Formats: sequence, structure tokens, C-alpha cells
Amino acid sequence: MERHTVKLLGVEIDTFSFSEALEYASLTSGQVVTINPEMLSFASKNPDFAKLINTSELVIPDGIGVEIGLKIMGHKVRRIAGIEFAHKMIEQCAKTNQSVALIGAKPEIVEKTKENLLREFPALYITYVHDGYFKDDEQIINEIKIRQPRLVLCALGSPKQEEFIFKVKQLLPETLFIGVGGSFDVWSGVVKRAPLIYQKLGLEWLYRTVKEPKRFKRIFPVLPLFVLKVLREKFIPKGV
Ligand code: UDP
Repeated sequence: MERHTVKLLGVEIDTFSFSEALEYASLTSGQVVTINPEMLSFASKNPDFAKLINTSELVIPDGIGVEIGLKIMGHKVRRIAGIEFAHKMIEQCAKTNQSVALIGAKPEIVEKTKENLLREFPALYITYVHDGYFKDDEQIINEIKIRQPRLVLCALGSPKQEEFIFKVKQLLPETLFIGVGGSFDVWSGVVKRAPLIYQKLGLEWLYRTVKEPKRFKRIFPVLPLFVLKVLREKFIPKGV
């Protein structure tokens, strides 16, 4: 299977469908980035972060914002919810007896996530669990290295999770790492995902903002600015 990517704000994004991305990931190791408008805006100001994403093994368009951005640039690419993608990868590991590690979120949340995943997939082998509030990267890296998991899910928020994965992926050449943001908060049952209708309409962000108004400050300036940036990239190419 070959990758086909399209560019948005300097970042290469894969155009796989959900099932193609799953198939590709199941045969790959390295870093999966689930990219959203906040990360793209950050990357457009931070060349090192853009480079990190562009050297990732898979970059999936997580959410309606990225889908719209790509559409403005003339690319028809369907969004892939990172949380669903990661969940399917866990299911695959359970079916094929491959081990999984969970790193991130608060201690009680990651423990509850483990408990819920084991209830859902009794055959799943979770070889390592650690919360996301550690100071010593090296200790965690050594502990993962000993376990050699096939799949590592990192829920440290962005860009922390991407930077952590980038650091560790060279040391575990057979492992697939996915940055999953707030997914453990959802899997633990602490945060509810939006009802299906919001998900289908691409309005999950709106539901989350209404439920958790402090997110408003975080996402409100980002989305319109992101669209403006994409429009500028389309109509005023660099160097003009
Ligand atoms: N987090 C963490 N370590 C940190 C900062 C954040 O483990 O130093 C966790 C946090 O508890 C949450 C997740 O990272 O579970 C990020 O959540 P957020 O809602 O920011 O994710 P996003 O909106 O990017 O999906």
C-alpha cells in the first residue's frame, strides 16, 4: 500500500479512507499523527513541529476543520476521527494477540481506561500503563523499551504527545505510536462524546464547547483564523 498525501499549511496529510488507513497502520510502525486545525496553526508558526509531522509515518485528518481546509485547497478527503481510529487499532491488537501500552491522562483516568478496554476486549494484552504527568521521559522510555508493545497510545495533548513519540519511536522500530489527545478521558467514561448526530454533522466541537465552555477560549480564535490562513495560502501563494 502506498501513501498519497496532500498539503495543507505546509503539512502533508494522508488521503486514505478510514479502512485504508487502518490497513496501512496495521502493516506499519512509527508515528501516527491525528491532525486538527489547532495543530496545523501551531505547525505553521513552528517549523520544527511541521518537520516532525512531515516525517511521521501517517497523518490522518481528524475533524471537520481539516476536511474543510482541504476542501478549500481543492482536495476531497474524508475526515477520520482519531479516537475511532485508535479504538479500531486496539480491537485489531486484541484479535491478533498483539500488546498495547497506554500512556497519558491523570492516573485514575488511565487506570479506568485500562479497566474499560479490558472489559470490552477481554483478550487484549495491555503490557504497560502510565499517567501523563511524568517528569522523567527517560524512565518511561526505558520501561516501554523493555515491554516492546506493538501499539502505544499517547494521550498527553498536543504538541507534547507528538514530541514524546518522535523521541521514542527510533528506539522501538516495530511499534506503532498514536497521539490520541483526550481519548482516555472519553474511554474512562469521564468525558462523554457528542451524540452521533453531532459527530455525523461534523459539529462535535460545538457540542464539546457548549458542555465545557472553557474550551471556547481555546478553539474559538483558532477555527476562523485557521480558515483565513488556508484562504491566504490558496489565493496569495508564498513569496507574493
Ligand atoms: N495530559 C497529560 N499530560 C500533560 C498534559 C495533558 O497526560 O502534561 C492529558 C490530559 O489529562 C488529557 C489529554 O492529555 O487527558 C489532552 O487532552 P486535550 O483535551 O487537551 O486533548 P485534545 O483536545 O488535544 O484531544
